[in-house]
Amino acid sequence: MRIDGKTVVVTGAARGIGRGIAEAFATEGATVVVADLGSLAVNPSADWHYSLSAKNELEAAASEINKRGGTCMAIEVDVSDRASCQNLVERSVEAYGGLDILVNNAGIIQTGPIVDFAESDWDRLFAVNVKGIFLMSQAAIPHLAKNGGVIINIASVAGKRGFAHMGAYCASKFAAIGLTQSMAAELAEFSIRVNAICPGNVDTSMWFDHLSKSKQRQQEYGTDTIEDTFAAVIQDRVPLGREQRPGDMAEAALYLTRANNVTGISLTVAGGFVMN
Ligand code: NAD
Repeated sequence: MRIDGKTVVVTGAARGIGRGIAEAFATEGATVVVADLGSLAVNPSADWHYSLSAKNELEAAASEINKRGGTCMAIEVDVSDRASCQNLVERSVEAYGGLDILVNNAGIIQTGPIVDFAESDWDRLFAVNVKGIFLMSQAAIPHLAKNGGVIINIASVAGKRGFAHMGAYCASKFAAIGLTQSMAAELAEFSIRVNAICPGNVDTSMWFDHLSKSKQRQQEYGTDTIEDTFAAVIQDRVPLGREQRPGDMAEAALYLTRANNVTGISLTVAGGFVMN
């Protein structure tokens, strides 16, 4: 699929990987809807380890794209809520006359031993990381089917192998890959291609506000600061010896959009950390 002139909705686009993907599509000439929680953001439980993005970040993501000459609007969404997903898709179609590409990027993480992992955190992870893809895709499919479309789900290397203390997150990302393959098989007859991207270790809030803060990880690597812990993890895990960036995921998303004969794959972008 050509990208210029197409309309793309990116969820979780106020910051991090989603914002990088939205900016890359705008640069290639697509009309972009950046969608995120905005004023709907509430951190799910008292011991939730990091903040989800705020209204000003969502507005900044859209205005930066417009300032650079792109066409972009921001819409608030909670991807775990059916009505909110429907509203996002309807408003996007109303504003721009159709929908061609959906990037299901919104995601959350919580870690900890399975033996005392909170049931509410398990449910929350599945509501966003799995049901979010289901609800957004359900809302978008009738529009994507009009001219043939593309769905890209942001899964993870944690959807390819298990990691200690990441049971809920890994299970949700394995599910995202399963859903990607099922939808690819089912939606091919409507010329909708469905693929996933599996990022490795990306320098976003998910790492710096949560994963690098893990005391266990700091003890394991003998590090004191978040930055040192992240750098030590990269040196330890990644054959290419460098972290991944949102721009790397954007490159993969542009490829999967253009690659007319590719559907059902889960493309790992991890510097060799995971190789399947
Ligand atoms: P991030 O926390 O910076 O971005 C996630 C965004 O999703 C935030 O802006 C957040 O507000 C939004 N979001 C959360 N819940 C939402 C909801 N219910 N509705 C709408 N938006 C919601 O983290 P990121 O690293 O940019 O993560 C993006 C995606 O990449 C996630 O799916 C994540 O699981 C995946 N991923 C990240 C890494 C990494 O190393 N950072 C690795 C593998 C996969």
